Amino acid sequence: MICNIIFKFAVEFLHDMNTISTSDIAHLEQFIKGAQKIVLTAHMRPDGDAVGSCTALFHCLKDMGKDAVIVLPDPSPDYLGFITGTIDKGRLTDFESDPQGTAEAFSGCDLIFSLDYNAFHRCGRMEPLLEGSPAKKVLIDHHLNPDRERYDLVFSETEISSTAEYLYHILLMTSRYGGSAAKLPGDAAAALMTGMTTDTNNFANSVFPSTLRMASSLLETGVDRDSIIGHLYNDYSEGRIRLMGEMLSRKMKITADGVAYMVLDKKTMQKYGLKEGDTEGFANLPLGIGKVKMSCFFKEDEDRIRVSLRSKKGVSANRCAALYFNGGGHEQAAGGRLSVPGDVKSIDEVAAYTERVTHEFMNSREEQMLCAGQ
Ligand code: 5GP
Ligand code: MN
Repeated sequence: MICNIIFKFAVEFLHDMNTISTSDIAHLEQFIKGAQKIVLTAHMRPDGDAVGSCTALFHCLKDMGKDAVIVLPDPSPDYLGFITGTIDKGRLTDFESDPQGTAEAFSGCDLIFSLDYNAFHRCGRMEPLLEGSPAKKVLIDHHLNPDRERYDLVFSETEISSTAEYLYHILLMTSRYGGSAAKLPGDAAAALMTGMTTDTNNFANSVFPSTLRMASSLLETGVDRDSIIGHLYNDYSEGRIRLMGEMLSRKMKITADGVAYMVLDKKTMQKYGLKEGDTEGFANLPLGIGKVKMSCFFKEDEDRIRVSLRSKKGVSANRCAALYFNGGGHEQAAGGRLSVPGDVKSIDEVAAYTERVTHEFMNSREEQMLCAGQ
């Protein structure tokens, strides 16, 4: 019996996130208690984890009687409207739509949360506002290489599914929620479930024992997962599914090194009438092919080409993004960009660039050692 308990504890310990320190929670509670105006931020082109985490923390701060506002670098995508629709009117804004209001929010607040990103530059054009604000700054994130020096308090954990999951564990350690998921506001619980679901690709990647414990507790509180899944995965435009077909049948290329890549230009996007967020998940698709070790998805943007990388264990998408695509992220899911004309002269050069750099990358000493499990 005792052996069983010790074994169970050891297994949980081996596979779980690091313990969240009670003194960090005490600091966090002090910061929140002392703050009059709080700004919640997330990274450029916010995804489900970014928006879900901001929304959840917004509802919890409101529940604590605090004045909070969410300020994003770009608008939240339409497909997350079922989450942002729960935020009080006037409490969600973005730099692109309201630069003046955004600047005022930053200069008038005394506490800023950075959710789901590891460094100021991930806020794009909002970076100078963040940097210039005298407010205390708290980081809650699950990416590699957090920029610790810029923050007054850092919660950083990579052995976890998502920022939403991390935030859930942090919130439950506060005296307000005292370990009970049932005490979380319902809209916060649903937003946390959403963030975790999108970042794990609906429980396909980065699922830890703590992730399932969180999901289980949130389900017990009455979170309507069927409704979340319906919004996230069964409510796409017809154009998205038709474009997916075209990308996979005609545009996907696979190199001899096991790298799949797809390039999506603006003209094709327009042909299918797609909006921001409509290509979410495209980068994962080629990994379903046995011989594919890494997948690269390129999307033409206004003045650059956005890059999404996904890899199987043994290949580091994060390193590839950092070395060749001006970015980073997680070991198996990373992103970045190619500048035009800088890295490539035009979208037509992306294929040749990718073939060249991924060949170099896949045959580099580091990747060969990683593949061999050394
Ligand atoms: P996605 O491909 O879904 O846009 O991004 C995958 C992961 O890489 C996300 O965790 C995202 O935060 C990270 N990521 C995306 N773009 C960049 C980037 O330009 N720089 C860094 N450091 N991380 C990125
Ligand atoms: Mn995330």
